[in-house]
Amino acid sequence: MLDGRIYNFSAGPSMLPEEVLLRIREELLNCGGSGMSVLEMSHRSKVYDDIINAAVENVREIMNVPGNYRILFLHGGASGLFAAIPMNLGNHSGIADYIVSGNFSGGAYKEGKKYLKNARLAGSSEADHFNHIPTQQELDLCPEADYVHLCWNNTIFGTKWQYIPDTGSVPLVADMSSSIMSEPVDVSRFGAIYAGVQKNLAPSGLALLIIREDLLGNAMDITPKIWNFATQAEKNSMLNTPPTFPIYCVKLVTDYLREQGGLSEMKKRNEEKAALLYDYLDSQDFYKTTVNKADRSIMNVTFRTESEELDKEFVAGQAGHGFSNLKGHRLVGGMRASIYNAMPKEGVAALVEYMKEFAAAH
Ligand SMILES: *Cc1c(COP(=O)(O)O)cnc(C)c1O
Repeated sequence: MLDGRIYNFSAGPSMLPEEVLLRIREELLNCGGSGMSVLEMSHRSKVYDDIINAAVENVREIMNVPGNYRILFLHGGASGLFAAIPMNLGNHSGIADYIVSGNFSGGAYKEGKKYLKNARLAGSSEADHFNHIPTQQELDLCPEADYVHLCWNNTIFGTKWQYIPDTGSVPLVADMSSSIMSEPVDVSRFGAIYAGVQKNLAPSGLALLIIREDLLGNAMDITPKIWNFATQAEKNSMLNTPPTFPIYCVKLVTDYLREQGGLSEMKKRNEEKAALLYDYLDSQDFYKTTVNKADRSIMNVTFRTESEELDKEFVAGQAGHGFSNLKGHRLVGGMRASIYNAMPKEGVAALVEYMKEFAAAH
């Protein structure tokens, strides 16, 4: 860690690799020999065209995206796509299946209900406070649905899908905001994958969408032009001025991921980091984790003590230890450590030391 920086466990926007931050600083006044900052640059310039094309190509290479998928950058973050997905994909039968395994998948379902003829609740773990991922047997899928929607990693509750549900010929659409590029995924098993980029890839305001070509071109008439996937695909995501700086950051972060060995290396590091926390949590009973062990996220680790007072004290002590953002989401309480790609293993090890000290002192 560079001098003066702390281990930031924020769920998003969250840490970026220091190598990338330094690169941004280095290029900030004069980007690609243009004599101007990327912040000031026309999105129609040759330099910027090279940046967005490199970002797309990097995503394709790093995630091993098949040739029949398009890679788009869209405004409005993941929440924008909660609305844009039904508008673009839900215009055949008008039926879509939503699996609700946490807060964001519930948000997507609510948006779906506004635009679809029939947004079905095809599975939910709400009755169990979202402490697990629904099993295949618990799903009630409709074969006529235009798509099945799920949230791959539940940022707030700290669970992750460990299997890809069988949806027959119905395309599966996954919100991967908080796990994108944290490990390899088989893109060909999904109709579409999308993510707000501020968890693992860049600053906020941008969504990445990876979508199978045959799902383009049937949007509802009410679809805002900037969220019409087919139009944006035709225009290389530049129908209007795109979020130029976040796209530039995606390019730098994906350059960095490639240099570091790609997603299998990320998976290895992320599993090691998560194991430091979970192994400790499993070895004691001062802190509790409430999520089903088999469904644990390796990106967002939630835990609590026996009382809200102690949780508060734990969170209050973080600054003195060089940490921030360990407070759990208000829906869950307790603590949450978000340990995305850019969180160094040393940061997680230091957190475990603090947890041990705090437990010993109480
Ligand atoms: C953060 C997050 C969102 C919301 O992203 P925005 O870009 O703020 O709309 C949606 N889904 C998941 C899984 C998230 O982690």
